[in-house]
Amino acid sequence: MGRSIGVVMTNDITAGLIEDHRLIGKLRRYPEDPDELHGLVDLPTDPLVEVICDHIMALKPEGHAEADNLDAIGIALPGIVRAGVVEDSPNLGQLKGARISQKVEAVLHARGIRAPISLFNDADASAAGLAATRNQLDKVVRVWTLGNGIGFGRYPDAPGPFEGGHTVVSLDSKETFCGCGGVGHLEGIMGHRAMRLRFMDMEPEEIFANGKAGDQRCADFVKRWHRALAAGTATSIHLEGPGRFYITGLNIGFLDLALLNQYLWDMVKMSPLQSYSVESIPETPEIAVIGAGTAAELDQKR
Ligand SMILES: [Zn+2]
Repeated sequence: MGRSIGVVMTNDITAGLIEDHRLIGKLRRYPEDPDELHGLVDLPTDPLVEVICDHIMALKPEGHAEADNLDAIGIALPGIVRAGVVEDSPNLGQLKGARISQKVEAVLHARGIRAPISLFNDADASAAGLAATRNQLDKVVRVWTLGNGIGFGRYPDAPGPFEGGHTVVSLDSKETFCGCGGVGHLEGIMGHRAMRLRFMDMEPEEIFANGKAGDQRCADFVKRWHRALAAGTATSIHLEGPGRFYITGLNIGFLDLALLNQYLWDMVKMSPLQSYSVESIPETPEIAVIGAGTAAELDQKR
């Protein structure tokens, strides 16, 4: 039975000790005060690495063996991650090009911890966490995370960027709200930041509330938001086949699953591809932490 530590960096940093795909004890958070927003956006890489290492030191199980009683450490963050390096991270810009694994490893070695470190995309960690907690580690699991950006995660981890949030879902050249600067992207319609840029006079919560109350402009946008997600999902189905999709994230409350399924039905018509399923999951930080730890441990068994 393996023990690992999962660390997830998004708007804040959460970390936990994982044993047998379960969280042992409580999650640790930075900043401790959840109202302290944008705590990470302003923090340079080296202090970030220190915070991560402090979490790991505090969570590490005590033991007598010369090994650390720890099989693996998994760190997940938003962006394109390859071989321990953050190649790009539009929502945590300071991390671009950072050799996070190497930096964390150096600090931990100095503190006597030698467990191997794996680095993941945060949405991939959510996919691994959903697979681990739902007995689906033998299946392909895909997940959309609806937040400031739109994450697309896949388990098992596969070579390739899988930047599903940047799927082109519109040919309208005026669709320019994506955080990456690309035109017509899913995130440019669905992302929290993108919605605020589109409706300068309304918060996303108000857009959805006004849509329900009958405001035509808002109601049209709510339909467009759902059709965009259906288009991204349909594209993934057409490229990689049907299967299980989960949808989660901070803005999961905006999702009307019946409406999404209705649009998906219109977009996926080949019968061998229609055996997909879509499930909405409330946002919980535990899932990605469990996924980061579990995927790191599985990395060591490969
Ligand atoms: Zn984009």
